[in-house]
Amino acid sequence: MRIPMIAGNWKMNTTVSEATELINEIGPGLEEVEGIEKVICPPFVSLCAAGDLVQESTIKLGAQNVFYEEKGAYTGEVSAPMLAELVEYVIIGHSERRQYFHETNEIVNKKVKAAKKAGLKPILCVGETLKEREAGQTKEVVTGQVKESLAGVEKLNGLVIAYEPVWAIGTGKAATGKQANETIGLIRSAISQLYGKDIAQKTRILYGGSVTPANVVEFMKEPEIDGALVGGASLKAIDFLSICTQTASLGK
Ligand code: PEP
Repeated sequence: MRIPMIAGNWKMNTTVSEATELINEIGPGLEEVEGIEKVICPPFVSLCAAGDLVQESTIKLGAQNVFYEEKGAYTGEVSAPMLAELVEYVIIGHSERRQYFHETNEIVNKKVKAAKKAGLKPILCVGETLKEREAGQTKEVVTGQVKESLAGVEKLNGLVIAYEPVWAIGTGKAATGKQANETIGLIRSAISQLYGKDIAQKTRILYGGSVTPANVVEFMKEPEIDGALVGGASLKAIDFLSICTQTASLGK
C-alpha cells in the first residue's frame, strides 16, 4: 500500500562537479533497483545539473529547503514556484534548520503550505532532542510538531513525514528499529486523528538518523517504517546503493 522511499539528503556537500560525479556513480546501479522510490536531494546550486542527469531515469529529485514567500525582495532565498520547475520533493523542517536557522513550527507550517501550493511534495521532518526523550516528552514533542506544521493544511496529497530524532542525526547513534517504529506509530495516530485512518495508512513515514547499509534492514523490517532519509551515507555511492538495494529486496 505504501511504496518505500529512500531519500538522500546531501546537506551542504558537493560542488556542481562533485554532484555530477556522484550522480554518475550511483545512477546506473540505482536504475536497477525496482519497487522503491529513490530520491536525491543535492544542494540548490546543483539541481539544474542533477535534473539533466536524472531526466531519463527513475531517480527523483528533492530540494533541502524552501522559502515561504513566492517572490520578491528576499535576497538569497529560493521559492516554491522556482523549485517546482526542478524537483518533486522538498525537505522542510530539518532539525539542522530548526537548530541553526531558528525555524519554528510556525515557519515550517508556512513552508509546507507554500510548497504544496506550488505542487511540491514536502518531506516534513520532526524529531525530539535527547533531553526531550530523557524527560519522557517524545510523544508530546513529535506529535506537537506534526500538528503545528500541518495546521490549516487540508490535504496531504503525497506529503511524506520523516521521523528524525535529533540525537541520532549525524552522530552514528541510530535509534533502534523498535524505538523508531514506536514513535512512527504515534505519528501515524496523530495523522489519523487529523485526516482519518485511510489517509494515515497511505502516508509514508520515514526514519532518519545514522542509517547505514549495516542497519537499514533493522528499520525497514518494522511495519510502521516506510523508508529512510539518509544523510552521511547518501554521499557514498556504494553505501547509498546498498541501502536502496537492501530496502528493495525486502519487497515491502
Ligand atoms: C539527515 O540529515 O537527515 C540525516 C538523517 O543524517 P545522517 O544520516 O547523517 O544521520
